[in-house]
Amino acid sequence: MLTLTELRGELATPKQIVVTTHYKPDGDALGSSLALFHWLRAKGHAVSLIVPSDYPAFLNWLPGQEVIQVFTQQQEAANKLIQQANIIFCLDFNGLARIHTMEHAVREAKGTKVMIDHHLEPEGFDDIRLWDPTAAATAQLIFEFLANHMDARDMITSDMATCMYTGIMTDTGSFRFRSTTAAVHLITADLITLGAENWKIHDFIYNSSTESRLKFIGHCLLNRLEVLPEYNTALFTITREDLQKFSITTGDTEGLVNYALSIVNIRLAGLFVDRTDLVKLSLRSIENIPCNEICREYFNGGGHLNAAGGFSSESLHATVEKFKGILPNYKQQLTT
Ligand code: 5GP
Ligand code: MN
Repeated sequence: MLTLTELRGELATPKQIVVTTHYKPDGDALGSSLALFHWLRAKGHAVSLIVPSDYPAFLNWLPGQEVIQVFTQQQEAANKLIQQANIIFCLDFNGLARIHTMEHAVREAKGTKVMIDHHLEPEGFDDIRLWDPTAAATAQLIFEFLANHMDARDMITSDMATCMYTGIMTDTGSFRFRSTTAAVHLITADLITLGAENWKIHDFIYNSSTESRLKFIGHCLLNRLEVLPEYNTALFTITREDLQKFSITTGDTEGLVNYALSIVNIRLAGLFVDRTDLVKLSLRSIENIPCNEICREYFNGGGHLNAAGGFSSESLHATVEKFKGILPNYKQQLTT
């Protein structure tokens, strides 16, 4: 393992660098990656930002997003960049399975792997890490990386501040989750001082629904929500036909699971979506109900204690039944 001080020394001279983040990147993944990208480029490095898949349309205004290369769309060129990189920054994930088809290329790459992340249980593929599972967002860690470890607070531009603000805002559910500490608010205030226009960012992210997405949410609330009062659990089961009928694209289901958690007495909420290749699930909980453990042990996934995700290759029905079958194991936490 190298130290962050040694990394700072390495970054004093121009390097070839790849920045990457997880499959279906969210606001934190892209905000963190773009903020770091902007800084590395300003330092004179040759930087590429390569992501494993497409990303939600509500993020397509982020400053610099036009530089993002989607791995599956230019695999040969991207593989070459990954092989040639001196340093690979891996942001907002801690297991290489999270970068799907990029896993092999990054695992085999010779460059120094720097992981900056806030999820539980790192796999250990990295050479250097800034890892803090108590951080509200990877974007918070990017701020700390720049300001405290790289002595680069003066280099934070308004574009970088906008990207980091977006990451913190989206990963804290607009500053309302338990992870939103006083320290997070202080960093956020700093970001506003540095030029992040908070009201505009909020508007871009949350007031960008299509009519069809809103009707889809209405349909899910009315027809796809199931409440299991004996387990204080609620879940949405979304079929492939639902996705087609409302022209649902990447990002459109984001936030839906929170409606289930918002029901009084509900302590665990699930969203099960029948995507073309597999069933994707998202879990949200309160207090000590371990979404990450359920996703890791039963659904090939992981994440945080109160917000985690995974997938299943079984049918939608079988996946939901499996989930319901697990609930008795958590009856005590669910019903106290
Ligand atoms: P979401 O439910 O919004 O997709 O994700 C919630 C949290 O769980 C995020 O922090 C995300 O990184 C993590 N997560 C989502 N899907 C997976 C997965 O398939 N594997 C792992 N390890 N983490 C996931
Ligand atoms: Mn995150």
